[in-house]
Amino acid sequence: MDHETDIVIAGGGLSGLSAALTAAEYGLRAILLEKMPFPGGAGLFPEGSLGIGTRYQNQKGITTTTDQVFARVMEFHHWRCNASVIRALLNESGETIDWLVDHGVRIEGIRTMFPPEKSLQVWHIFEGRGARLVKILSGHIKERGVPLLTKTPAKKLLVDGRGAVTGVDAVDADGHTIRITGRAVIIATGGFASNKEMLKKYVPDVSTPGMAKLMYRGPAVDGRMGDGINLALSAGAALAGMGTLAGNSPYLDNEPAIRQFSGPNHMKQMRCALSQPFLWVNKHGDRFYNESFGSVFSDVYNAMTANGGLMWSIFDDAMRRSMVDNGPLTPFNAIVVPGQKMTALDEGIEKGIASGFAFKADTIEELAGKIGIRPQKLRETIETVNRYADGKHDPDFSRRPEHLVKFDTMQGPYYALKGLRAFFLTLGGVQVNTRMQALDEKGEAIPGLYVTGQDMGGLYDSTYDLLAEGSASSFALSSGRIAVKSIKEATR
Ligand SMILES: Cc1cc2nc3c(=O)[nH]c(=O)nc-3n(C[C@H](O)[C@H](O)[C@H](O)COP(=O)(O)OP(=O)(O)OC[C@H]3O[C@@H](n4cnc5c(N)ncnc54)[C@H](O)[C@@H]3O)c2cc1C
Repeated sequence: MDHETDIVIAGGGLSGLSAALTAAEYGLRAILLEKMPFPGGAGLFPEGSLGIGTRYQNQKGITTTTDQVFARVMEFHHWRCNASVIRALLNESGETIDWLVDHGVRIEGIRTMFPPEKSLQVWHIFEGRGARLVKILSGHIKERGVPLLTKTPAKKLLVDGRGAVTGVDAVDADGHTIRITGRAVIIATGGFASNKEMLKKYVPDVSTPGMAKLMYRGPAVDGRMGDGINLALSAGAALAGMGTLAGNSPYLDNEPAIRQFSGPNHMKQMRCALSQPFLWVNKHGDRFYNESFGSVFSDVYNAMTANGGLMWSIFDDAMRRSMVDNGPLTPFNAIVVPGQKMTALDEGIEKGIASGFAFKADTIEELAGKIGIRPQKLRETIETVNRYADGKHDPDFSRRPEHLVKFDTMQGPYYALKGLRAFFLTLGGVQVNTRMQALDEKGEAIPGLYVTGQDMGGLYDSTYDLLAEGSASSFALSSGRIAVKSIKEATR
């Protein structure tokens, strides 16, 4: 069956939902196609989004400006990124958050992974996280009568003789091909984090040790097969930044990353314990990172990459007790935060020993033996940290003095948790301009084709920029809105 509309949106995650609702509010007809049985995609998981100049920030006296964030982002990426598109997305970010709030999304607070003096204070945490956000957006879309066709993947772009994109062919839930024509197509399929072949082709990191088994997998995120990028390629689009991942580490070995992020309490607390600033060593028993910044997951990912992809987090029994009784010293995202007692930790250690990511021993030497590190080396590393703790100064990696806690070197038990690298998004994709139009190799806009969210490329250099906290979901939500505004202007 054929349909005619104004905008065909391929992908019902954050950018697609945002585009669909904006279209309805602008009086444009839209049809939203979603491959999976339910909308949301990776958008079901975010804790919060970047926003600058929001009403919420104003109420809290937060005065961060777009100039400040932009300068910081450019410094981070050394300008090796699409600066004008980043600026357009940052400019839109505050209005996007206010727009969400106007639709019933509640902001729980502004959080940060950084010490307060370093934070830009832009990460707006959503009450009920991404799941509630998706529910709210989907509810408004339904109310406004925008068709959301689930189990209906976009399969092919329709391109006319002038090279303009005029619609898509999709396959509906009954397996029938449907043709939907429109003035514009918005691609919003979430990147290629679940496509092993594409990862192998484009992303060198995935072939390095300790990666493959910790990809985020599960029904909500498995739709991210790079369909939108490949559709855009078929219409002549140019790609950028395809090798860049949003690395997210450390994660416990042998357990799906998604379970550590949103599974039972003992898993979340074990993931938090893994990143605590007691002692981290690489496979040789050497320190390699400033443990005070264990929550800066993109830096951790990079440091682990430079150290063979593996880390061990070591603590003694007093440190274990302090996590249980007082909570962590540094947060695991906004999931387990300082002050929150880690009462499920002992259960986690027990289960971790059975599963093979946690190790316990009565002596330092025995623990070293269990994790394949030279016993004398581990003892030396611990004794060095103890000396630094005495002097309240870490001359090797500048760990914060309050995180220099002494090990009891005489009395066990001691614990080791095994951490590997994970990633949660691909960051490469289609080149776009500030109107979210797809560009061809000559830098010309492909008529009728818009690209949003994780299908856009070139917005990050080698690494996800965590100081601009919540940029991925913010860029997804804002790019959906900007694409529709551009289409509205183009069709006036
Ligand atoms: C565990 C986790 C935690 C996160 N936390 C944060 C956070 O705190 N802050 C932050 O900023 N970001 C966070 N993110 C990232 C954020 O979720 C993404 O940036 C955002 O969801 C991207 O939006 P999108 O629309 O591009 O893709 P998605 O939201 O993933 O949506 C893509 C949709 O397209 C569908 N699709 C795929 N192919 C087709 C096709 N051919 N036809 C139709 N539909 C198709 C998919 O099934 C999916 O539903 C997190 C991500 C994960 C996985």
